[in-house]
Amino acid sequence: MPASDYDAIIVGAGPVGGYLGRVLTEEGLHVLMLEEHREIGKPFQCAGLVTPSAMNRVDLHNTILSDVWGARIHSPRGRPVEIGQPSIIRTHVVCRKLFDEGCVRQAIAAGATLWLESTLTDAVVDEGGVTVTVNREGQIHKLRTKLLCGADGVHSWTRRHFRFGRPKEFMIGFQAEVTGYEGVPGRLEMFSGEEVAPGLFAWAIPNGETHRIGVWAHPERLGGRSCEMLYDALLTHPLWRDRFANIHETARFCGPLACGLLKRIYKERVVLFGDAAGLCKPTTGGGIGPGFEQVHNLAPRLVKAVLSDNLSESNLKRICKPMEKVRKDQERARILRDLFVSSCDDDELESTFEIFARENVVALINEVGDIEKPVPLGIRLLKDIPEFRRMAVRATWALLTG
Ligand SMILES: Cc1cc2nc3c(=O)[nH]c(=O)nc-3n(C[C@H](O)[C@H](O)[C@H](O)COP(=O)(O)OP(=O)(O)OC[C@H]3O[C@@H](n4cnc5c(N)ncnc54)[C@H](O)[C@@H]3O)c2cc1C
Repeated sequence: MPASDYDAIIVGAGPVGGYLGRVLTEEGLHVLMLEEHREIGKPFQCAGLVTPSAMNRVDLHNTILSDVWGARIHSPRGRPVEIGQPSIIRTHVVCRKLFDEGCVRQAIAAGATLWLESTLTDAVVDEGGVTVTVNREGQIHKLRTKLLCGADGVHSWTRRHFRFGRPKEFMIGFQAEVTGYEGVPGRLEMFSGEEVAPGLFAWAIPNGETHRIGVWAHPERLGGRSCEMLYDALLTHPLWRDRFANIHETARFCGPLACGLLKRIYKERVVLFGDAAGLCKPTTGGGIGPGFEQVHNLAPRLVKAVLSDNLSESNLKRICKPMEKVRKDQERARILRDLFVSSCDDDELESTFEIFARENVVALINEVGDIEKPVPLGIRLLKDIPEFRRMAVRATWALLTG
């Protein structure tokens, strides 16, 4: 059996692949990152929200375009609810190209190798390692690695090749970058309702000199419409069209989001990371923070397993055990999201907003609300707000049977 060329080959040099490359290399592994595009961070489909804890993992504060401290959330009939305080930064908005490049540069600085314009065409696992076939700028290379990491995004070749199954939900997102939107600095806006964002929400995010206006939706809730049509509906909606009257688009993006961590993200010598594993949050669609968290939680034991060449399925199962809690938390968040938003019609949403607009509820949201951990807030709302207690029965049932 030929010796391994690498300890780990990472398919995909996005933010998660880059961060993984850095951590594995810093822990002493010989790492190769494969990226199918000729440039890092292009094309990107992202609103660019990166939470402070995710940002601290990579310390790429130079890529921040704007800080967000709060949100104004609009009910379907235009009732606004304002949350947040300017003194507390809830999330950052980054330039995704610079951010992705920064993550990958850190891996290279640590000693990892990057191959651009390189696509996997085959991968075969045997007892001694994985043989991968790579098409690099038209030339075919056969490489050996002990561990293959799929960080190749929502359409993951690795996930499909090794038949890992599908993430629970695939959402669709559409977004335009615009000038001429007059928002309050540091405050994002969210719009709800069947016409503009069935089951989820649309957004306007301050982005330095521009704004990102977008919408995401579950395909089943689109009723034959595209996300682009929802975006047009938002821009021409009688309640909100005035605020979009002077915008000028500079770019458009569209892409899927995989929300629902796979039951199993490992097979002998193969592990999935980030979007490839279905890690996007079902409440916000954010995938960068959860991907970094996964790397942080799994890498130390994964490195030991590579160094001792113990990459059997059963050992990887033990190493990936912390992800079971992540999957359960995602499920709880999804159930609460469905109860409060996704399974509601506009009348029900309107009643919910009426309650959200109360001073004591806003205070509770400001105190407990955390973009990274929405479950504690959902549970406090069910417990503390009498009108929501009727939902608690449904929530408990869904949690028990889910
Ligand atoms: C409209 C929209 C808005 C979003 N907004 C946010 C947000 O505000 N905040 C947030 O955290 N997340 C957001 N997301 C999700 C976020 O973009 C992803 O969660 C994040 O990019 C995941 O990082 P990743 O490294 O796992 O995958 P990716 O960023 O997709 O990187 C995967 C990399 O692998 C490469 N690749 C793919 N296949 C192969 C192959 N076969 N061989 C070699 N290379 C390959 C790709 O070119 C890419 O560079 C949004 C998504 C959408 C669609």
